[in-house]
Amino acid sequence: MAGEPQAECLFCKIVTGEVPATVVRESDTTVAFRDINPQAPTHVLVIPKAHYPDAAAVAAADPGLTADVLREAGAVAEEEKLDAYRIVFNTGSGAGQTVFHAHAHVLGGRGLNWPPG
Ligand code: C5P
Repeated sequence: MAGEPQAECLFCKIVTGEVPATVVRESDTTVAFRDINPQAPTHVLVIPKAHYPDAAAVAAADPGLTADVLREAGAVAEEEKLDAYRIVFNTGSGAGQTVFHAHAHVLGGRGLNWPPG
């Protein structure tokens, strides 16, 4: 069922604590943790605790949860004292998505080029 934990999902295992992560924030509906392969001085992932394969699926099923993820991303940026930052949802393997549990990348602490690669 949509939103239910998936046994083989890495980020579902981070939600339960089965896979360790450096958690920086947690809410009733989200977890934020440092990316293990940071691409910027601040690189934090914000995930919904419920399992959806990508950001659009979250928005379609539960718009309020999308707002929770974005609010937590903003809170991470504030805690990390980022005056400029980027929120990225890679969607689809062709766009670089490797983990199919929705996640927002919060990137900052260095200059960020546009367009992204
Ligand atoms: O957008 P994409 O699906 O590629 O992002 C997945 C991210 O999850 C990667 O940046 C990767 O470094 C990160 N990751 C992590 N902890 C894990 C496995 C992957 O932070 N245990």
